[in-house]
Amino acid sequence: MSIAQNLNKIKESLAKQVTLVAVSKTKPVSDIMQAYHAGQRVFGENKIQDMAEKYEAMPKDIQWHMIGHVQRNKVKYMAGFVSLIHGVDSLKLLEEINKQALKHDRVINCLLQIKIAEEDSKFGITQASAEKILDSEAFSKLNNINITGLMGMATFTDNEAQIKDEFTALNKIFNTLKTKNHPNCNMQTLSMGMSGDYNLAIACGSTMVRVGSRIFGVRS
Ligand SMILES: *Cc1c(COP(=O)(O)O)cnc(C)c1O
Repeated sequence: MSIAQNLNKIKESLAKQVTLVAVSKTKPVSDIMQAYHAGQRVFGENKIQDMAEKYEAMPKDIQWHMIGHVQRNKVKYMAGFVSLIHGVDSLKLLEEINKQALKHDRVINCLLQIKIAEEDSKFGITQASAEKILDSEAFSKLNNINITGLMGMATFTDNEAQIKDEFTALNKIFNTLKTKNHPNCNMQTLSMGMSGDYNLAIACGSTMVRVGSRIFGVRS
């Protein structure tokens, strides 16, 4: 099946409140343009430099999401255009994003990445650390940041029950944080689910899925 057919099939199956981020990492502009011509406007990349190059080369009505781990010294390369940063995991990183956003006179939307997987390889912070950041005096001054939700990745396993438990745990944290009133924070997005588990993620409360190989084919 073509990229457009893959995309349309997934889109048809998604409920209206779920946003599809087409994960185009490692894929060439020509592939991404096929998805663009099929109507897709939200794309996710995991390397800031790659995303910046694709941003330069492609139509400007695309919303670019940074879904990978963010190094502070590279924030400046995306601050002028990034639409949502999924993997935010420290106050220091938020301070750098705020500083760069200010230079562009923008407010940058960010998700806090919560660690739900049991693997050490996955990034993210605990609920307690997230709350500590949101409650801090330093965070309340970051007026060029808007925390719009949470992101998480489940353990890479065939054990569906475990994945379900991890997604359910993240949804619970999301619903807890949603009820609190933090400055620079407007919790509405729960980013969880990838090619292998997005249906399960949606059943567990996801509002944003990040799907790559199901659209663009396997990555080499
Ligand atoms: C690569 C990646 C995805 C998409 O993975 P697929 O299995 O190809 O859908 C989603 N989220 C993050 C954070 C990724 O790095």
